[in-house]
Amino acid sequence: MSTHSLKQFAESKKITSFHPPQRTLMGPGPSEINPRVLAAMSLPAIGYLDPIFVQMMEELKSLLRYAYQTDNALTFPVSGPGSVGMEACFVNAVAPGDKVIVGRNGVFGGRMIENVERAGGTAIVVESEWGEPVDPNKVEDAFKQHPDAKVLAFVHAETSTGAQSDAKALAEVARKYGALTIMDAVTSLGGTPVLIDEWGIDAVYSASQKCISCTPGLSPVSFSDRFVERVKTRTDKVHSWFMDLNLVLNYWGNTNRTYHHTAPTNSLFALHESLLVLKEEGLENAWARHQRNHLALKAGLEAMGFKYLVKEEHRLPQMNAVFVPQGVNEAEVRKILLNEFNLEIGAGLGPLAGKIWRFGLMGYSCKPENVMLCLSALGSVLSNMGVAVKVGEAEAAAHQAYAAQHAKEAEMKLKRLASA
Ligand SMILES: *Cc1c(COP(=O)(O)O)cnc(C)c1O
Repeated sequence: MSTHSLKQFAESKKITSFHPPQRTLMGPGPSEINPRVLAAMSLPAIGYLDPIFVQMMEELKSLLRYAYQTDNALTFPVSGPGSVGMEACFVNAVAPGDKVIVGRNGVFGGRMIENVERAGGTAIVVESEWGEPVDPNKVEDAFKQHPDAKVLAFVHAETSTGAQSDAKALAEVARKYGALTIMDAVTSLGGTPVLIDEWGIDAVYSASQKCISCTPGLSPVSFSDRFVERVKTRTDKVHSWFMDLNLVLNYWGNTNRTYHHTAPTNSLFALHESLLVLKEEGLENAWARHQRNHLALKAGLEAMGFKYLVKEEHRLPQMNAVFVPQGVNEAEVRKILLNEFNLEIGAGLGPLAGKIWRFGLMGYSCKPENVMLCLSALGSVLSNMGVAVKVGEAEAAAHQAYAAQHAKEAEMKLKRLASA
């Protein structure tokens, strides 16, 4: 832009402070943020080598180990969104010429293939239908054909479809063939069990803005000793300066911290707080909360006649993908929900564009008030469009689902008391 047009831009519009509206976020992420986390983010800046900050980093690493259920020493947040965490795993694991078996059952498996190829590796792709989990038998067949494959990569919770893959079974196959496992836990972490040590996952990445409900821009990762050993013994240089674990270790590792890049300090305060919120709630309670609200949302959506894309046994509670009713302008519905109800839901991607809606119930967004607002807003918009939904029936079904779960929990509590 010339100085002339820059000046025109500044004069053409009076620019004031930016105040976003208060939205209910029920898409594929970002999720809403707990006010405690926002408050932590607005605390005064300190240096990233300040001893007080360094202490906070140690706590942050230990909170992340809890979230990931791992003892991995190398567990820390990468400065960057989930995609940077993804890239960090691949660029460190994959040397030129390496074969990597990638399970693809949605958008993010496709990105993994891109990462393998950009790192100079060869991707052996194991395809599954969108909406299905990655099949451990097909993965085993791929290893039989390519026993020299060094890595297996798959997405645990495919956000583009709402399907969950059996991470434990997949990692077992990889170990049998002496390969490392890279797992995408972006949408699963904090919403459903992610048991890194028990399952034997070597490299995992997530993102701050899904079920952890922090601000976007951080990617928690964790690496097994096996993985670190492999990166340390590579004979070539890792093809990214920023993500080379050998260098990052000097900042996030345990020894004398030295400058690598300027850590996003205030975002890290926020992540510390959001993980503390998760620890205070307890992982198992967080998983149960996602399940409880999912069952209520599901009851409501089904009462309105919606059908889920994913079979019940593979469904993620935090990502509900349902088919758009015939003849409905799905983009128009989302627009009205946003403009009139301040409610954001997700659209379909790739082959599912225009065919499904995705209702996220992630982290701080996963609460009864959101479930009820969503059902009632959706019912209202659809009936205004002439779709045959009975307004109120979905809310009644959701209420029943909550009540049934309450009764079950009360009964279990009584049993526990009686046996104590
Ligand atoms: C959102 C998402 C990503 C990418 O995370 P960004 O923070 O958007 O870069 C990767 N994988 C899955 C499964 C996701 O849902």
